Amino acid sequence: MAGIYIHIPFCSQFCTYCNFYSVKQLGLREQFVDALLGEAAVKRDFFKDTRSSVTTIYIGGGTPSVLPLPMLERLVGGVKELFGLQSGIEEFTIEVNPNDITPEYAAGLVALGVTRVSMGIQSFIASHLKWMNRRHTAEEGVCAFRILRDAGIKNISLDLIFGYELLSEEDWKYNIDRMTALAPEHISAYQLSIESGSALGAMARRGEYRGLSDAECEKQYHLLQRKLSEAGYEQYEISNFAKRNSDGEVMKSQHNSSYWDGTPYLGLGPAAHSFNGKYAPDGPKRLWNTPSVKKYCNYYNKGEGLLSDICGYEELSAENIFDETIMLGLRRTCGFSLESLDKQFLSQITPQINSLISNGLLVMEGDNVRIPAHKLFVSDFIIERLFV
Ligand code: SF4
Repeated sequence: MAGIYIHIPFCSQFCTYCNFYSVKQLGLREQFVDALLGEAAVKRDFFKDTRSSVTTIYIGGGTPSVLPLPMLERLVGGVKELFGLQSGIEEFTIEVNPNDITPEYAAGLVALGVTRVSMGIQSFIASHLKWMNRRHTAEEGVCAFRILRDAGIKNISLDLIFGYELLSEEDWKYNIDRMTALAPEHISAYQLSIESGSALGAMARRGEYRGLSDAECEKQYHLLQRKLSEAGYEQYEISNFAKRNSDGEVMKSQHNSSYWDGTPYLGLGPAAHSFNGKYAPDGPKRLWNTPSVKKYCNYYNKGEGLLSDICGYEELSAENIFDETIMLGLRRTCGFSLESLDKQFLSQITPQINSLISNGLLVMEGDNVRIPAHKLFVSDFIIERLFV
């Protein structure tokens, strides 16, 4: 099992809290698609040595839905052809902005083979959406959701944000209730963080934003867990919740689950990351593309610049892989299996594991270690204690 991630580095406007790599120069979209297909052609053998077959595609950003349908068709058609993906894709996700969703666009996504749509709703409160500098209103979010449903998208994931100064407990209840009333299959809820490269980071530096206290954020997180559980959602990761399908399986993001399982993935596009898998024959490597659309397009379209200008990589040591396995396991409600870990490193952290268990911050069931649901909010604190 492996996945392809395609990064679309364009947004029509920037959200207050965001520091992802993205540009507003929509005039570069056409040449960007050319460059991306150039990169895909160069990397078409990426999965050869990993002995994995691609089962998921994820188009993220940025805002992938700023690509008009013909451009998206050219991009997806080209990538599918280069990697031989005419069949075998179990999950094909695209991130969209509500304003971009029309019945024609939604039908076009279905025709492309999209099976899952992830849409940033973030809030149902007009003044909060304005403060976040989101492009859409709450009504437009709901309308886009209905259009996607009517087009036949059976797996929709919606995002919410909590943990910011404007959001009272009543507001948060309201947002969760509006969200569950729509009944998406999947909900991601992220705590707002102050990132240095974002507009919010600048506001914080000027003393115009302080953020909510940890205690308030924790209260909102526990309210989220309780209300989503009551509404039939199962938490499977710190920020992710999903319903069960008719076979009783939790409708997790398969693509993101493969990141957490350490399986190979190829990221295409500026700022995308790749991983050749923790069992790669020539050793595990993390690879990344430099966040610059211009350098990326110049290199792949005109042959200008050096490969080292647009990408880099690091080899991961056994310690790195051990730490990642612990971290990615504990971010999920399933935890990690002791059996899967390097015995020598495990013996180094056994005293810490035992101490965290006796303090109620970890639970052990047979061979499995996990963070109990009511302690997931402090998962960073717990995970840090287990690094070798
Ligand atoms: S949150 Fe998404 S839409 Fe907003 S600026 Fe960041 S990448 Fe663009």
